[in-house]
Formats: sequence, structure tokens, C-alpha cells
Amino acid sequence: MSRKVRADIHLGAIVQNYRLARAQAPGARAVAVVKANAYGHGAVQVARALAVEADAFGVACIEEALELREAGLTQPVVLLEGFFDADELPVIAQEGFWPAVHSEHQLEMLEQVELPAPIPVWLKVDTGMHRLGFEPEAVPAMVARLRACETVADILLMTHFACSDEPGHGMTEVQLARFGRLADELGLDASLSNSAAVMAWPEAHHQWLRPGVMLYGATPFEEPNPVADQLQAAMTLSSEIIAVREVPAGEAVGYGATFSCDRPHRIGTVAMGYGDGYPRHARTGTPVIVAGQRTRLVGRVSMDMLTVDLTDLPQAGVGSRVELWGRQLAVSEVARWCDTIPYTLLTCLTPRVPRCYDYD
Ligand SMILES: *Cc1c(COP(=O)(O)O)cnc(C)c1O
Repeated sequence: MSRKVRADIHLGAIVQNYRLARAQAPGARAVAVVKANAYGHGAVQVARALAVEADAFGVACIEEALELREAGLTQPVVLLEGFFDADELPVIAQEGFWPAVHSEHQLEMLEQVELPAPIPVWLKVDTGMHRLGFEPEAVPAMVARLRACETVADILLMTHFACSDEPGHGMTEVQLARFGRLADELGLDASLSNSAAVMAWPEAHHQWLRPGVMLYGATPFEEPNPVADQLQAAMTLSSEIIAVREVPAGEAVGYGATFSCDRPHRIGTVAMGYGDGYPRHARTGTPVIVAGQRTRLVGRVSMDMLTVDLTDLPQAGVGSRVELWGRQLAVSEVARWCDTIPYTLLTCLTPRVPRCYDYD
């Protein structure tokens, strides 16, 4: 039989999480963000599961948007980084994509191109992230130029928060103040909220939400949050114990011999490693679930294997199921042990791991 590594993707959980996002802002619509292969969960499968209720999908670029169209999905697709070349514009117009416009360079392309139909655009306002977008003071003039373009249909204002995952952080208030009443004054809809703002900043909701990581059941917050606590894990990453050995006191385990046994240890070897996307920098002590019980990773993660402490789990042995994260162990808890965030763990899962879909 084959290697037992798998990622179970719970599509029902993703639908529930999308509903939870929308329930935070009744009356608002929500772009389901499915960029980067739906944060590793499979963009087409996730989008199909959400097809009945999602108002729109959000992706990084036209290639990701076309993948959804080729799979038969008909919803609007927001291109969160916009377009890079003018030759994308006819495709955008034809396929019903909604590009972000974040630079004058893009605006000029819209002014010069001829299109079969005008396209809706999401004008990006830089309220403090300083990555993409126009200064708030420049926005009225840009809106005037867009309104003068025959190639442009509806305009929406969008901005993105730097610190919305830190509820006490003054930066979000600064960004909200800079955005101010810009949208109202220009008579435009607005979209400000990523997952953290959906859950923690009701004043940022406006007409369109943009939940990403919360759809996948991962919290962006370090602290408990009453909404995030209701999220359901959408991915269970698991494998099996393929070998067990008794390691005497004084011996070490794995590359670099970084974990030395201060007493005899029962060590289980798991078929899972950084070649699957499990982070190599997971520290000794990172939680894992073996046969339903919590224990810890010990020693360094190898490409195809990692080692766990079975000393206090006598019932566990070869063939025992191992959950690396999922329904019994939050991916955000694992992320903290790896000095990273759940986004990277989910997104960096490699194609070697088969995704198995269920509707739970
Ligand atoms: C990725 C992304 C989101 C979703 O962010 P989450 O923190 O995953 O909810 C929202 N808006 C923009 C512009 C993005 O790039």
C-alpha cells in the first residue's frame, strides 16, 4: 500500500465559515478569497463548494481567475493585485473579472485601451500599508479619471489593513480615519475587511468583506476571539507511524542529533516531512496527535519523516494515525511553535500531499 500522508479537506466547514463571515455584517456581500490554490485547499474544489452562496471570489492574478472559469464557475472574480499588462484587459472584460487598480500605470492602460464592454474596478487606497494603492488625497482625482473612461463601469474603493489581527492596535484606527468618509463623499461602495477585520472591526465592514484565512478555519489572532472561536478547521493533515524504537538514555534522535534522550524514550517515526510542507523549523515540543492523544515532536523534521515521543503512549504503534493539524489540533497552535502564521503552513503544503475532499 502507499504512503499514508493525506490532507482531508472539509468542504462543509468552509461553507460554514463563509456563512459565519457574512453573518458578522448582515447586508454586506463577501468575496471568498481563494488565491494561492485556496490557501492550499484546492481553489476549484473550494469555489465549487461555495458556488451556491459566494457573491464573488478573490484571487491574486488572471491565471488563478481563469482556472475558476475553466472549472465552470461563473461568479465575479476580484483580481486583488489587478492586471500587469494591457493585454489582460480584453480577457478581464470578457470573463467578468473585477481588477484592482492600484497605480497610475494601470489607469493609463484603461484610458488607452478599447474594450468590448466596460469593466468594474476596485480602486485601491493606501491608508498605511504602503504596499499598493493611491494616497487618500489623490483618490478623488483618480475616481474622476476612471469615471471619464469608457472602459470603466462601477468603481469601488478598497483598502487593506496592516494590523487588524491585533485588536488593540492603534494602526487600524489610523487607517480607518485616513479612509474616513471618502467612499460616502464619492458615492462609492467600499471594501476594507480581511478576516481579522470581519471578526474584530465592525466599523470596517462597509459593503464588501474579503475573508480569506477564516474560511479555512484558521484564526488570524494570537488571542481568543468570540467569532474566531466558532471557526471550524477545514484541513486535517495526517499520516501514520511507520516505525517504533526504544532509544536508550544518552542517545540522540534525528539530523544534527539535536534531541538527546535524558531517559529511555519510545520514539515513533511518522511519514511526514518538509517535502510534504510540514515546516522543518517546527521545534521539539510542537504538539502532534497520535491515536487521538496529544504528544510532541522531538528532534529535527526530515524531508519525508519526523519523529514523535511515544513514551507515554504505550497503546500507539506502527499504523497509528497521526494528526499534524486539523480538527483535534489547531493549525494556528502549530504555527506558533514554528514561529510562523497559519497562512504559511496551509499555503506551503506541497502537491505531494493528496487532498481528499469530504462534505463534513
Ligand atoms: C489575501 C487578501 C485578503 C484575505 O486576507 P485574510 O487575512 O486571509 O482574510 C483580503 N484582501 C486582500 C487584498 C488580500 O490580498
